[in-house]
Amino acid sequence: EAGREALRRLIIDVADFPEPGVVFKDITPLLADHDGLRSVVGGLASAGRRPDGTAAVTKVLGMEARGFILAAPVALELGAGFVPVRKAGKLPRETHAVSYDLEYGSATLEVHRDAVGPGDRVLLVDDVLATGGTARATCELAEACGAEVVGIAVLMDLSFLPWREALGGVEVTSLLTI
Ligand code: IMP
Repeated sequence: EAGREALRRLIIDVADFPEPGVVFKDITPLLADHDGLRSVVGGLASAGRRPDGTAAVTKVLGMEARGFILAAPVALELGAGFVPVRKAGKLPRETHAVSYDLEYGSATLEVHRDAVGPGDRVLLVDDVLATGGTARATCELAEACGAEVVGIAVLMDLSFLPWREALGGVEVTSLLTI
């Protein structure tokens, strides 16, 4: 709990960003703090381990853009590979794409078709779980490639939003609940 409180102090609430009415959680002070970053990467990696401590996953998928920062060191810690899930039009080769609704409008995420496949067990890593739309779309991308989703690990979840409903039975690990 002391550790959790230390992490909370490294996250700054920014009112009305990126638009009026939204309170944005700025995690850049936490990323800049070595102990904080170390502790978050370790905590997220635990979601990809079996009870005996061995890795339960072969790949870690990170969602653009802050998910990249956390997913790559988590992958190294687990002895797994890192796979970027990107916004539309950024990946150069054949992709699977999933579109989903945002509060206003929609978004599309993509993954390279050959980035994961049958036999891969994947962990999804992102900074914030809000409506769950991004995580849901990423699960669908992993499954479109034939991989099995072992779980989702996030630094924080916004408990006042209905991400649980969006994610069905997927195992979710969140280090901080807001
Ligand atoms: P969701 O799809 O509604 O669950 O939103 C999650 C995505 O939006 C994640 O990729 C986050 O990086 C981003 N996001 C939503 N709210 C915040 C926030 O307050 N701070 C940082 N990122 C956020």
